[in-house]
Amino acid sequence: MTTRTLEKMRASVPFLRWLAGSRFAKKQNQEGIADLMFGNPQEMPVAKYVDALSEKVVPRDRGWFAYKLNEPGSTAVVARSLTERTGLPFVPEDVFVTNGGFAAIAVALRTLCEPGDEIVFLSPPWFFYELLVLAAGATPVRVPIEPPAFDLPLAGIERVLTDKTRAVLVNSPHNPSGRVWSKEDFAALARVLGKRDQPIWILSDEAYAKVVFDGRRAASPAEIWPHTLVLYSYGKQLLAPGQRVGYLAMPPTLDEAVRRAMREDVLMSQCATGFAFPNALLQHALGDIEGVSIDIGALERRRDRFVSALRALGYETTHPEGTFYVLVRAPDGDEEKLIDALADRDVFVLPGALVELPGWIRVSLTANDSMLEKAIAGFAAVLG
Ligand code: PMP
Repeated sequence: MTTRTLEKMRASVPFLRWLAGSRFAKKQNQEGIADLMFGNPQEMPVAKYVDALSEKVVPRDRGWFAYKLNEPGSTAVVARSLTERTGLPFVPEDVFVTNGGFAAIAVALRTLCEPGDEIVFLSPPWFFYELLVLAAGATPVRVPIEPPAFDLPLAGIERVLTDKTRAVLVNSPHNPSGRVWSKEDFAALARVLGKRDQPIWILSDEAYAKVVFDGRRAASPAEIWPHTLVLYSYGKQLLAPGQRVGYLAMPPTLDEAVRRAMREDVLMSQCATGFAFPNALLQHALGDIEGVSIDIGALERRRDRFVSALRALGYETTHPEGTFYVLVRAPDGDEEKLIDALADRDVFVLPGALVELPGWIRVSLTANDSMLEKAIAGFAAVLG
């Protein structure tokens, strides 16, 4: 890696430096603060999840904790889950289990990218897209998504496509806007991609696919566009992001010869990405935890409470269709002033600038109820 690449990588994650020097860093483990910063748990883990891990920690045979690759037990569980969610008959051979969504994205990029390839992603993005694109030796290309609607920016995407475009990275349900784009949106995106000569991949980051509100279903671009890699993390549905498990999957609609060739390359990329497989324990437990989830209804009630309370106070907010996050526009666009005034009241939220959305702040609904009430009181108090 050249110094210049490392410089670009460093510049792509201002978040890491900000975090180290932040007021939040000094207080984050103290009792009594309202921590609305990240999608981290603020309550005890789901009991069924803990039970599954406890049960599977006891070895049944000599190979229980041996090296694990894409184990048939795990890939069959994921193929079934994807078939149920998308209606497409995914097969276990096209599933690659990873240590989280992070690794699934890194492995996908490493598998697809040559130096000079362009990867289009949407801004505001998840913190680490640009870093992972750079680390794969590719060139990041941004397309803005306009607030407050956060519609899929089809015209913007079409404008940046070139002969070097290898993939478009989309994320629905979208962090941080909470938008869930529809199957029709993805059909429109497919029409845009279909105009190009080369097959452009969709890298579909579906980390929040199970975190949807109001009875919605999150459609996958794979339902429309065969050149899609589905990328998933169990860290959200289980709200246990420190236990790393996720996957990369190719849809059955993708040409059989392409899939056959890709299988070997993805496995190789998993090794090259530092053995990007889930730990043995998580693979043994996957069948039991696939259907387990945090209480989405409780999250939805928190969304309703928070959004209605803030709107009643006069704040402009998003009304997320999924994910953990609500965006709040800072009065007069002065994000730093709002963040400081909230921190004075021990309420900690994420600056929008760190997700390329200056003038806004991001709040995580994974806060517990008392944190949320403290935050609402804080938002009221800072208005004076
Ligand atoms: N994509 C998005 C949009 C995310 O928000 C996250 C986690 N914050 C990830 C991927 C990575 O998930 P994990 O840390 O579970 O690998």
